[in-house]
Amino acid sequence: MIPAILARDLRKSFGSVSVLRGVSLDVQPGEVFGIIGPSGSGKSTFLRCLNSLETIDSGDLYVNGEFVGYCFERGNLRELSDREQSAQRMRIGMVFQRFNLFAHMTALENVTSGPIIVKKLSRVDAGEQGRHLLDQVGLAGLYDRYPVQLSGGQQQRVAIARAMAMDPEILLFDEPTSALDPELVDEVLETIRQLAQQGRTMVVVTHELLFARDVCDRIAFMDQGQLIECAPAEDLFATPQKQRTRDFLQRFN
Ligand code: ADP
Ligand code: MG
Repeated sequence: MIPAILARDLRKSFGSVSVLRGVSLDVQPGEVFGIIGPSGSGKSTFLRCLNSLETIDSGDLYVNGEFVGYCFERGNLRELSDREQSAQRMRIGMVFQRFNLFAHMTALENVTSGPIIVKKLSRVDAGEQGRHLLDQVGLAGLYDRYPVQLSGGQQQRVAIARAMAMDPEILLFDEPTSALDPELVDEVLETIRQLAQQGRTMVVVTHELLFARDVCDRIAFMDQGQLIECAPAEDLFATPQKQRTRDFLQRFN
């Protein structure tokens, strides 16, 4: 089986700061893969590389069996064209810490704009699909609200519906609940939990360790630009092998 994500020795620096220092990992199709670790350890940068929002300096990165950001052509590495990159990006959805909704669009328009513009769906079909997705994330009846008229948890659920509307093969979550007031966290986690049961490949970066243990098949602990340890979710918590992992988990007990 071709892995959904295959990363080999990824490296990425910003100026003199080495942010990814040899990250290798594979994620299987349908797997829910968690990444935990202290802030500044490179988790967001890694997700952004998966989605070609950042380019890598070296290493191999395949998503759905295809090179990301680069391809080899007659033995030479060349960057993908904008068109190739956007084709690839369409296959990957991302939900950010800040919801990044379009402020001048209703909830429904936020969800339908991608399918209409990029996938050339008709307004009617996109609307039907969009309402169905908003229903799924518990926002039935709030189709016409603007982002300012929604709570943070509701906005984040619109963002999740918007990512789903493109029917991505892989869905990336970058700390989807860390910008929310505590009382709004659970409704978003519950939405993600339901998605996780649908068999779509997901990579979830989160500080919600109990949630990660429940929902993820495997979890990797990232620290200072490296994946220190990766294990089935239960095992990582029950029997962490590395001292750095133990130190990190201890702080949450
Ligand atoms: P995490 O998501 O684990 O908190 P990040 O990937 O956001 O970590 O950041 C890792 C390191 O890379 C941090 O030291 C951060 O300051 C740095 N960094 C991230 N993005 C940039 C950027 N665009 N330019 C310069 N430094 C960056
Ligand atoms: Mg981050």
